[in-house]
Amino acid sequence: MSQAEVANVGTAIIGAGMSGLLMGIRLKRKGLPFRILEKAGSVGGTWRENTYPGLTCDVPSFFYSYSFEPNPDWTHRFSPGAEICRYFEGVAEKYGLLEDISFGTSVVDARFEDGGWTIHTGEGASLRADVLVDATGPLHIKNIPPIPGLDRFAGTMFHSAAWDHSVPLDGKRIGVIGNGSTGVQMMAPLSEVASDLTMFQRTAQWIFPVGNRPYTDRERRWTRRLPILGKLTRFVYKWIFDHASAGVVENGWWRRRMQRGCRDYLETVEDSELREKLRPDHEPGCKRLVMSREFYPTLEKEHVHLETTAIDHIEERGVVTSDGNLHELDVLVLATGFAAHEWGIANVVGIEGVSLKEAWASGPRTYRSVTIPGFPNFFMIVGPNSPLGNLSIIDVSESQTKYIFDCIERIDGQSGRALMPKRSAAERFQNAMREAMKDTVWVTGCSSWYLSPDGDPTLWPWTAREFHRVMKRPDFDDFEWVETG
Ligand code: NAP
Repeated sequence: MSQAEVANVGTAIIGAGMSGLLMGIRLKRKGLPFRILEKAGSVGGTWRENTYPGLTCDVPSFFYSYSFEPNPDWTHRFSPGAEICRYFEGVAEKYGLLEDISFGTSVVDARFEDGGWTIHTGEGASLRADVLVDATGPLHIKNIPPIPGLDRFAGTMFHSAAWDHSVPLDGKRIGVIGNGSTGVQMMAPLSEVASDLTMFQRTAQWIFPVGNRPYTDRERRWTRRLPILGKLTRFVYKWIFDHASAGVVENGWWRRRMQRGCRDYLETVEDSELREKLRPDHEPGCKRLVMSREFYPTLEKEHVHLETTAIDHIEERGVVTSDGNLHELDVLVLATGFAAHEWGIANVVGIEGVSLKEAWASGPRTYRSVTIPGFPNFFMIVGPNSPLGNLSIIDVSESQTKYIFDCIERIDGQSGRALMPKRSAAERFQNAMREAMKDTVWVTGCSSWYLSPDGDPTLWPWTAREFHRVMKRPDFDDFEWVETG
């Protein structure tokens, strides 16, 4: 098929998760043409993929929701994953987005040619778009650890993001590898069904104590009746998060407060041997903070164990640690996180045939995290150097999609030219970031998915307030038009 015969969708958005839906809503409201390409059969992104026991969002639900679509019916301060997924399904339906989504469509190749994007899908389809928006996010390619013998395990094994709900857990000996937010969240519910539960911890994590509580029917009724209550709650949480997030980027009061909270909480573990096993050797906040009030009490249960001896290999019956001990298991959960630096896109090729992989061979380089020199009419939501830590990523995405929308409006109707950031602007941004990174807690000595292969954190090194300020509107002096004929 020639390019002239391939349908042009206007803006192609990859992914129908939280950000892709948001971008779609913005474009739909203004009547601009777009198509969302989604590899799976339903919306929700990470909330569709992750269904492990105990999954909640550790950002309060009133803040972890679109500002323009409040939900008075949240059941908990930190609502369960399934409820959050239903929220996104409801929003997609309400805004009539389902008709704009091509489900079962995985983008395998996208290249800028002849003034626009040619997109190929794994299902054999091709389409054209003037603008391409990557809304795939960093946390969806599963990290399967290269532990020797992993494939020899004779029990049931799955990654946390591919939970097999057909596997009965009652009375089973369960092992969990990994103690990030995911591993920690699943421990309490698993401990209620397992006969024996072992967490394999490679590096201790700091835990910040935050309790979850259900909202009462009465509270929900009032929030439904008086929507201002929901708005106020959101406002308060946003204020707290916008200010407290300074703790990771500035060495001041918020950092001391956050670090003291973690350190004091560790001291509440009564068993001194367990407490020392749980004591990290890095600063609180260096890795993404884990929020829980259930984790330490769960580890104090008699049938729950924290194994800190390194894993040597895995065999048919279970995990063998480097001291030669065999930990026999029926079920092994890999809560080992995600390949966060793949950025969800296999093959995106910009001008002069340079792929994103090549352009980022020594680490991602963006201009304000949403645009990239050499990649015209291409935008990323929640891409590298977005504020990705303990924040509402929805709040982040709202600013980014607004910024991208402003760019798309500028691009709309411009035939024969495409928009991209100047290299000089991207370099200026990178240099400022590199300088600001020195004050962040992420460079104080730990390994985490925050660090790119070249060792630089791929986060926003300034406050959330600064992020929203900078993203308010594009500075078009920092952009250039590429003549495409
Ligand atoms: P993660 O934070 O990357 O943690 C992965 C864990 O697996 C770490 O404990 C890591 O140990 C361990 N691990 C990896 N490879 C290993 C190996 N070969 N041997 C032994 N241990 C290994 O992943 P996650 O817990 O899935 O969380 C990822 C991100 O998802 C979070 O940071 C957060 O952004 C998001 N998340 C958010 C929520 C929420 O409530 N908002 C909940 C869950 C997840 P090391 O520390 O030693 O590397």
